[in-house]
Amino acid sequence: MSFEINESCGVFGIYTREDDVAKLTYYALYALQHRGQESAGIAVSDGRETLMLKDMGMVSQVFSERDLNNLRGHIAIGHVRYSTTGSTFWENAQPVQVPRRGGSVFVAHNGNLINTVELRNALKEEGVRFRSTSDTEVVAVMLARSSQQSIVDAVKEVMPRLTGAYAFVVMTEDRLIGIRDPHGIRPLCVGRYMDGYALSSESAGLDIIGAEYIREVEPGEMAIIDDDGLGFETAVTAAKPSLCIFEYIYFARPDSIMYGTYLYHARKHMGMSLADEAPVEADVVMPIPDTGVPAAIGYSQASGIAFGEGLIKNRYIGRTFIQPTQAIRQLGVRLKLNPLIHDIKGKRLVVVDDSIVRGNTTKEIVKMLRDAGAKEVHMRISSPPDMYPCFYGIDTSIRKELIASSRKVEEIRRFIGADSLHYLSMENLVKATRRPKEDFCTACFDGEYPVPVPDEMMMTKCRLEKGKVGVQ
Ligand code: AMP
Repeated sequence: MSFEINESCGVFGIYTREDDVAKLTYYALYALQHRGQESAGIAVSDGRETLMLKDMGMVSQVFSERDLNNLRGHIAIGHVRYSTTGSTFWENAQPVQVPRRGGSVFVAHNGNLINTVELRNALKEEGVRFRSTSDTEVVAVMLARSSQQSIVDAVKEVMPRLTGAYAFVVMTEDRLIGIRDPHGIRPLCVGRYMDGYALSSESAGLDIIGAEYIREVEPGEMAIIDDDGLGFETAVTAAKPSLCIFEYIYFARPDSIMYGTYLYHARKHMGMSLADEAPVEADVVMPIPDTGVPAAIGYSQASGIAFGEGLIKNRYIGRTFIQPTQAIRQLGVRLKLNPLIHDIKGKRLVVVDDSIVRGNTTKEIVKMLRDAGAKEVHMRISSPPDMYPCFYGIDTSIRKELIASSRKVEEIRRFIGADSLHYLSMENLVKATRRPKEDFCTACFDGEYPVPVPDEMMMTKCRLEKGKVGVQ
């Protein structure tokens, strides 16, 4: 059985009659580009007609000014998508459009449903033919086939049938709706813009267009935006909140706010705790850019060891679709990071990063630092060992590939070639968020999945581990 994992994505929606919604969405997608670089799309409605443009590539590659000028209306939704190789199809780009009651429903999704196969099979039996392998199309079809006249009632009918993680933005000719799953695993917030409102995966998507942050959409809630303004209703009964803690560590931008905190501050505190947990005599604290920067600043402040940059990131490489030659491929991490040899040579380095997934990049970086003359390399990771695969929308590997699933910290240290290695404790990670552990999904670290994962799906990501895949 195959499962289409609809991975890490970014969603945005806006409703205003006072500005160009396509251009606003375009800029917002730029702010969310880190959430997905594989495809981008925008759909607009002027109240009668709808138009959509989506394609493979980054936001800057997909839209031209002329395209945006043609996308006229007062409602828009946008999407950026990330996926692993293998599911790189145009058909999986979003938003997804399905005809509904003489018009259309458009859906853009961040997250991953875990009962897609069941839902899809039931629809296939009813004669539905799908165009893509994405779970988003399944939801769009369900909304379109609902007997409910109003899209709000259709959402209320469909959402309780979905299991998994989702933040959706939904657009019809005259409405914009944002919905979060009952656990609130993936983020979604709402803001005010001129006479209207906007929805965004992250508050940074509101900031870029000058929208004023109002609040997060609550777990199980839907935000409904139309000519009557903004309203909130329950789409599905809320369960224990379980925001993805990896958003705090790596995925979201540091200038985004979640649970009322800038992630930058949470990450800095993670670094401060790392310094308390694993002090070391060194000359400089160095981040792996960009995601390691706030934690490295925290480590430096708490330890009194100077902060310094030693690796400069090529900000424009992004995700490239040009096949590299073998020689270029061998450059590996060098395509993204270039060492400042004079700042590294002869130095004892504390190198701070947010996470280790497979360990391959970290190993290459340690080698690069040693080749540049580093005397000592002490790796400090601002999260606990990543041991369990994510089924809710973060693209981490199958379990076997997660280095910490099968190796102890000392073995990982040896594999990456560092002089010392320390991972932040769960206790101090949680402390940095200023919220109780119960408010988060921490499954990637402790295997406690808030939404039970079906056995077959567990097997798919834990393959070659039959008999040992149980969730703790
Ligand atoms: P590696 O040593 O190959 O496991 O790579 C570690 C790096 O991957 C760290 O710098 C992380 O910031 C980064 N990382 C963590 N999670 C992801 C993800 N889901 N997709 C891409 N990179 C990630």
